[in-house]
Amino acid sequence: MIWETEIVKHANKKMMQKAADLIKAGEIVAFPTETVYGLGADASNAIAVEKIFKAKGRPQDNPLIVHIADQEMLFDCISGPLTKMAQKLIAKFWPGPLTLIFDKSNYIPEETSAGLKTVAIRMPKHPVALDLIKRAGLPLAAPSANSSGYPSPTRAEHVYYDLEGKIPLIVDGGSSQVGIESTVLDIRGEKPIILRPGGITSDDLREVLGEDLVHYEKSTDIEKPVSPGMKYRHYAPHKAVSLLSTEEIQALINNCPADPEKKFRKAIIISKETDFLVRPDCQFKIIRYGSRNNPAKLARKLFSLLRSLDQDRSVKQIYIEKIPEKGLGEAVMNRLQKAALQERPISGGGD
Ligand code: AMP
Ligand code: MG
Repeated sequence: MIWETEIVKHANKKMMQKAADLIKAGEIVAFPTETVYGLGADASNAIAVEKIFKAKGRPQDNPLIVHIADQEMLFDCISGPLTKMAQKLIAKFWPGPLTLIFDKSNYIPEETSAGLKTVAIRMPKHPVALDLIKRAGLPLAAPSANSSGYPSPTRAEHVYYDLEGKIPLIVDGGSSQVGIESTVLDIRGEKPIILRPGGITSDDLREVLGEDLVHYEKSTDIEKPVSPGMKYRHYAPHKAVSLLSTEEIQALINNCPADPEKKFRKAIIISKETDFLVRPDCQFKIIRYGSRNNPAKLARKLFSLLRSLDQDRSVKQIYIEKIPEKGLGEAVMNRLQKAALQERPISGGGD
């Protein structure tokens, strides 16, 4: 099906109702969340969920996060009662950018969980996302609303660029505040495991859970649960991305050839702390993201920057200065490392 994709303002209540009606009728709709834009479908409708995979070109083995607006929806999706740990986390971080893994109920079809017996669930903080879920009256399965593998969308235009003609409607709610995806946490075992760092930091979680937190990608001594989404190259522009230390970036800038015409073949994303090295005649396109100690600012801009540099025809290669893996810096570096992987796997991109 080829759609004439509409972008509608969230303030238009008639259009919000249209978005909800489309979801109820088994179609897919893009909507804003505080992390990134999502591409939502009725989480219990296998045929609707298949449309998400098709529109994104998402690998079939990568399960979707289910978005809910209230406790009743949570209990529809999971089997068994909430553990003490789940209760604590929900009380502290929902609504917000924390996704929790639960054993799933039969309400969630295998298409949504990609064959797993578990389901990933979060309650988004964005009022437009919550309004849409409530109007539809059902949990929404929603990955990021981008073409699989490309940087996630943080504005309605990004979604349009990737999915025009493939989906009927995009609800425009402005720029996403957090800018990177949710933290995914598996709380089924004895030790909680971070499957993906994201908008809620390890420090935030440790405050609630104590020291017993395990980091999936960094750990070698745990029996690893399945997190299929972690194996793919993700968040990546088509152009080569190189992630360099501050010293490497500074050496690159020090050796920058002078070019008054500024042909900008290399784009370099740097911190405020490195900025003093840049000479006015430097040939590189320099993008400043603020302080290395303010990862939240880089998180907000990161995907939008990668997209705009990818679409800038003068730029051939993108370099980014690493930031400390502290606070949100951990999630930002995780995204950058995946974007900088050179090869896409044969089975296609990630999400
Ligand atoms: P996204 O594609 O950005 O929505 O990210 C979803 C992430 O959550 C991916 O890394 C998935 O592998 C992970 N995920 C979703 N459902 C599950 C699940 N049931 N168990 C483990 N990881 C999951
Ligand atoms: Mg995604």
